[in-house]
Amino acid sequence: MKKDIHPTYHKAKVVCTSCGAEFETGSVLSEIKVDTCSNCHPFYTGRQRFAQAQGRIEKFNKKYGMK
Ligand SMILES: [Zn+2]
Repeated sequence: MKKDIHPTYHKAKVVCTSCGAEFETGSVLSEIKVDTCSNCHPFYTGRQRFAQAQGRIEKFNKKYGMK
């Protein structure tokens, strides 16, 4: 590789904000936050996440004063 033109590539901690799972990958970032991961994504679990989806809608409605 050419020197001084590449960002530093190191181990990155990926944190899933939905289920709290953490795993490592390689990235130029040191920490990555994701909304869903292979641990909790419906495609892998075979289950829908109604509770969390509802929570987000409620939060939105509360924030903007809607019922
Ligand atoms: Zn997850």
